Amino acid sequence: MRRFLLLAAAGAALSFAAAAHADPVRATAEGLRDKALAGSGAWEIVESLTTEIGGRPTGSPAMERAKDWGVAKLKALGFENVHVEPFVKQNAWLRGPESASVTLPYPHKLSILGLGNSVATPAAGIEAEIVVFDSLNDMLAAPAGSLSGKIAVVNQPMVRTQTGEGYGAAVRARSGASEAARRGAVAYLTRSISTGDSNQPHTGAMQYADGVAKIPTAALGVPDADLLARLYKRGKPVKVKLNLASTVIAQAPAWNIVGEIKGREKPDEVIVIGGHLDSWDPAEGAIDDGAGVAITTAAAKLIGDLPQRPRRTIRVVMWGSEETGGAGEAYAEAHKNEVAKMVLAGESDLGGGRLFKVDLPKGAAADPAMAALPSILAPLKIVVTREAARFAGSDVEGLEALGVPVASLYNDASHYFDLHHSADDTLDKVDRGDLDQNVAAWAALLYLAAESDVDFRNPRAAAKK
Ligand SMILES: [Zn+2]
Repeated sequence: MRRFLLLAAAGAALSFAAAAHADPVRATAEGLRDKALAGSGAWEIVESLTTEIGGRPTGSPAMERAKDWGVAKLKALGFENVHVEPFVKQNAWLRGPESASVTLPYPHKLSILGLGNSVATPAAGIEAEIVVFDSLNDMLAAPAGSLSGKIAVVNQPMVRTQTGEGYGAAVRARSGASEAARRGAVAYLTRSISTGDSNQPHTGAMQYADGVAKIPTAALGVPDADLLARLYKRGKPVKVKLNLASTVIAQAPAWNIVGEIKGREKPDEVIVIGGHLDSWDPAEGAIDDGAGVAITTAAAKLIGDLPQRPRRTIRVVMWGSEETGGAGEAYAEAHKNEVAKMVLAGESDLGGGRLFKVDLPKGAAADPAMAALPSILAPLKIVVTREAARFAGSDVEGLEALGVPVASLYNDASHYFDLHHSADDTLDKVDRGDLDQNVAAWAALLYLAAESDVDFRNPRAAAKK
């Protein structure tokens, strides 16, 4: 009798759960999605950051103001445990006055930006003949000494793709300076790592190899790089004059800014998300990464505004030195003894374009706790794959290396590399509706993960049909 009653009760519960909106967790996730689509607040956050702070390279006074902005914003949005985690940024690089011109066969002002970490030229500049290569590999094939006294130029285009994967192949050319120096070059210029056709150059961090002379290095606007290539192919000497200045702060103060939506039952189990607060200096860092800061902050805030908090804690981190590195490493080092309690990590750092794909940790897409996610995200035109997430942003790489599971949310990056690290990375490029779509997906995913007991290190198999 007792047994019969239990079975009957279980049967009733099953048929109840099978009704589309009878699952309260799913209904709440859908409610978060729809609320975000109606106006997530993300655009207001990126508007505030870009207008009130502007560009904010690590080591600059602007980054210190950005830190205070982050604390105030998280507090104003109702986050708890808002605090700053300081760390030391080694060799923070700050741009000085820069210029470059063609001097032969005729004067032409070139559009350039020094690359982060580049050494300066002598005050009088460097003037030399150029040698132009169509690709980095072409330069690598040049023999030792063949660039003696020359300025090496690599004019390698970047391929446009939805995932932005053309960046990985193209970005190696940004650090070509040491290979040029090995062949005798006195300076190195690269076509901007860009999919655009603007003459705005795109900066970015470069690295020198050990044991090789450090030569000044800068990015060229795309049309100017093409011009140098065409001039060079005429077969007559082409000369360029380059002036770069910069300062390096050996030990600069830097900060990761943190706020939490505390879980109601398991506050020590934490989901770590965020974007990076630092940016490059030519513009206000709207898409890189004001958008990511805004998306993740707005998603967590929507969850914090629910009548009942989810079980687990959602922690938003505004990482303070992504572009030239250091923030993710500092965060992982400071929290290495807590990683067992970190349920999941992720970063939004590919602009504010619409999301089209989500990869969860290995096996997690089949876990019953995440089973509703594909149909919740389908109206947003986002597919949840069965692929294991492999990379979720450079600021969570350190956590990932310590074994924290990660989720990757893919922005449509078709136009991201037209803009990033250039003077075109401005607020007008951020679309309010696209940001809301991002927040809708992040909030739904975060809520399912925070309300459930899913173990992303060891997901359960799919429920048997
Ligand atoms: Zn970024």
